[in-house]
Amino acid sequence: MKQCTKCLGIFQESDFYRDNSKKDRLNRECKTCSNKRTSDWNNRNRERKRSLVKKSYAKHREDHLRYKKEYYKLHKDDYYKEWREKTINNPEFVDVPQEWYFKAIKNGAKKRNLPFRLDFKTFQQSYGDGTCALSGRKLKLTKTGQQATGNQTASLDRIDSSMGYELGNIQWVDVKINCSKSASTQEDFIQMCKEVASHN
Ligand SMILES: [Zn+2]
Repeated sequence: MKQCTKCLGIFQESDFYRDNSKKDRLNRECKTCSNKRTSDWNNRNRERKRSLVKKSYAKHREDHLRYKKEYYKLHKDDYYKEWREKTINNPEFVDVPQEWYFKAIKNGAKKRNLPFRLDFKTFQQSYGDGTCALSGRKLKLTKTGQQATGNQTASLDRIDSSMGYELGNIQWVDVKINCSKSASTQEDFIQMCKEVASHN
């Protein structure tokens, strides 16, 4: 019989692991205590390892972002020139919405999990003569320009923003109107515009 130095229990010799460095060639702790020590060590190490991996990832991510930023700073003029040529200096106005815009809306709908039940032809036809459905403003479309350049003012709106893109729930409006309408219902938005107009 032998006493465990950890739990102080008295056990048979077979309840201790062998340790040839000890006088009695047995571990000082019983098998239960010894197993627990090993598993505790593993758990602690696993956490340490995980946090090291996380830390290293965060560090490299920062380096990567810093590199990207510096690269952008160096090539800023090139980027800007390319952007101008694509947009402001080359608006290329068109009469019907182009495929890039259709694809952009379709992708956006997919990302936001919104139903999208329009084909390209229906999408193009829905543009009509390009008048804003809410303000009557004449809309502008460009071949490649994004709305951010201010050249393209046409924007596709979902009348009821709780529903997806489908015939009956879409209308073409000025991008500024689309932004201010946001998630409001059509009635609320029109009411708000009336209040703004009558107050001024
Ligand atoms: Zn023990």
